Amino acid sequence: MPILRQIAQLGQPVLRQETHRIDDPLAPVIQSVIEDMLVTVAEANGVGIAAPQVFEPLRLFIITSRPNPRYPQAPLLEPTAMLNPELLWSSDETEKGWEGCLSVPCIRGPVRRSIRIGVRYTTRAGEIREEELSGFIARVFQHEYDHISGLVFLDRVESTRELISEREYMRMVAPQG
Ligand code: ZN
Repeated sequence: MPILRQIAQLGQPVLRQETHRIDDPLAPVIQSVIEDMLVTVAEANGVGIAAPQVFEPLRLFIITSRPNPRYPQAPLLEPTAMLNPELLWSSDETEKGWEGCLSVPCIRGPVRRSIRIGVRYTTRAGEIREEELSGFIARVFQHEYDHISGLVFLDRVESTRELISEREYMRMVAPQG
């Protein structure tokens, strides 16, 4: 049975550590970490979660997207586990967009990200995929890729003066909520 994991909060050293490549995607221990991450990200209404956020210093994250209370405008993407993900290229064209993080509660900040990226990753079934991602999904990939590189979105914000509280953010994007 999958276990709802505790989410590492900013200040936990695991969020700043080196992460390890996964040699055997099909190993039961890896599959069970993926299962735990799937239930944990769903429970938290997240659009992505990286292994270091559940105290596993592995090159692994999950991207999932559907409109939810934390991201009312999110597009639909089935939960996808990405193992040993690589960022192959990223567009010069960038845009600023609001980000938040399950490890940095109650804060949102605008982060400049490439609009289109090329990625390669191994699926949980052990298949290698190459894809082009754009828009919100490309943003989530870049956010999660940062996590497996020991970075959080706060490191990317141009000025701390642009940070706002989650409550003010919700007031902006969902005035009726
Ligand atoms: Zn995050």
